[in-house]
Amino acid sequence: MENWLTKRAKLNPNKTALIIEHSDFTFSELNSTVQLCASKLHNKLHKGQRAALFISNSFNGYIAILALQQLEVEIVFLNSRLSKEELDFQIHDSKADLCIIDDSSNHEQIDKVDTDKILLSDILSLKSDINYQPAAEFHNESVTSIMYTSGTTGRPKGVLQTFGNHFYSAIGTSLNLGINDRDSWVLAVPLFHISGFSIMMRSLIYGIPVYLVTSFNENYINKILINERATIISLVPTMLKRLLNKLPSGSSYNDHFKCVMLGGGPIDNWTLLRCNMIKIPVIQSYGMTETASNVVALNFRDADKKVGSSGQPLFPVQVRITNAKREGIGDIEIKAPNVAKGYLNHQDLFDKKMTSDGFYRTGDIGYLDDESYLYIKGRKDDMIISGGENIYPEEVENTYSKVQGLENIFVVGIKNDDWGEVPVAYIMLNENANLTAEDLKGFGRDKLAHYKVPKEFRLVTSVPTTASGKVLRRKLNTVDYEKL
Ligand code: ATP
Ligand code: MG
Repeated sequence: MENWLTKRAKLNPNKTALIIEHSDFTFSELNSTVQLCASKLHNKLHKGQRAALFISNSFNGYIAILALQQLEVEIVFLNSRLSKEELDFQIHDSKADLCIIDDSSNHEQIDKVDTDKILLSDILSLKSDINYQPAAEFHNESVTSIMYTSGTTGRPKGVLQTFGNHFYSAIGTSLNLGINDRDSWVLAVPLFHISGFSIMMRSLIYGIPVYLVTSFNENYINKILINERATIISLVPTMLKRLLNKLPSGSSYNDHFKCVMLGGGPIDNWTLLRCNMIKIPVIQSYGMTETASNVVALNFRDADKKVGSSGQPLFPVQVRITNAKREGIGDIEIKAPNVAKGYLNHQDLFDKKMTSDGFYRTGDIGYLDDESYLYIKGRKDDMIISGGENIYPEEVENTYSKVQGLENIFVVGIKNDDWGEVPVAYIMLNENANLTAEDLKGFGRDKLAHYKVPKEFRLVTSVPTTASGKVLRRKLNTVDYEKL
């Protein structure tokens, strides 16, 4: 395919491409800025090399990503919340030729890593290389981005994502949402994560503007969604809750607003109900780094009749369940042109996850109903087996999400002589909550099969999370707790 950025600048030179605080840039202006940056970077990097990028959601970070694509340099996206050790691992595992650091990020940890580095501001003061030529084409098979998985279930793996992966991902989403050229996307999730980067790629592919949010300020984002012609925002469940909590009472988002695209993990029914009441449509979605964004989505129109589902496969995606046992619950497998090429340095590990007929084993468990709606029960590794019965922590947590005063609950299995494993809950309570273990057990017994009710409630003040904010269940047993 022709280079997406230069093509967009030719097709829609005067259309807005990027809005950041009080400035906006057309596709033509964006292209010129990117080409200038790429011509300077060409002194340091050339086609076929690899650069690690440590950025925050900033204008310069946005430009740097696009410039590296113009140079046909593979981009290793570093999560800016990683520790020094984690960054060190990813930079060396990926054998990055250069590490580019955004001045406006908090770069204390990366500064400690021993590697070739350059600050974005130092690139801007370089002279343009006269030999620089932008990429003529973005090849379907070429890797453009390498993203490490969150590491929720083990050591993070570098996922090789191609231009073709991002293209098909964008097409699947546009067919589902019915994107038109008057749409615009609010980018408030991290640029270094697939959720943020995929919005940039969609902007080029669809020719629509991005509102780049530099830091997650609820009032600021709500203001954009209320007052501007912003039509879509991508969020993870905790971000949505934060926006709702700060939304002035009686207000909703602008008349053109289409939906919140929600991903990254399950959402509780109470939050969905709140959105429904104030007419904020929510599209739940399911995807992973290995599928370059969403593969399944649930339209708000179906939300009432398919409560708990993540939706139907997007058009280019096949979903199937294998090893199904009771109620059709089994392993979720996916075949789609947006499934990544592999894991960097661990192709064997990736190949093991592929079936002989080209399906990717996600490691998640769930079932499909007779209208192809997917219901995710959780991760295979998190499942608790108690007396031969399967318990999905997410189901128990979702049930407890309605309990007043209970701020957070995470359920894991602990070894038990009689049952093999039994569920216990790590909980956080609101300040004035007056809940006892008996109250919580009683609530569970009314709503869940007895073996699913946590045998113990452990009060904690914080829980270990990955850099992308996911709870590390396998580390919960290391947290100090007080028995409720
Ligand atoms: P690692 O693979 O290193 O353990 P990770 O799987 O957490 O990390 P990501 O690719 O960021 O890394 O997350 C994808 C996973 O998130 C999915 O496989 C699934 O388990 C979970 N997930 C995503 N969307 C949903 C959803 N809508 N409902 C439930 N779980 C979801
Ligand atoms: Mg994973």
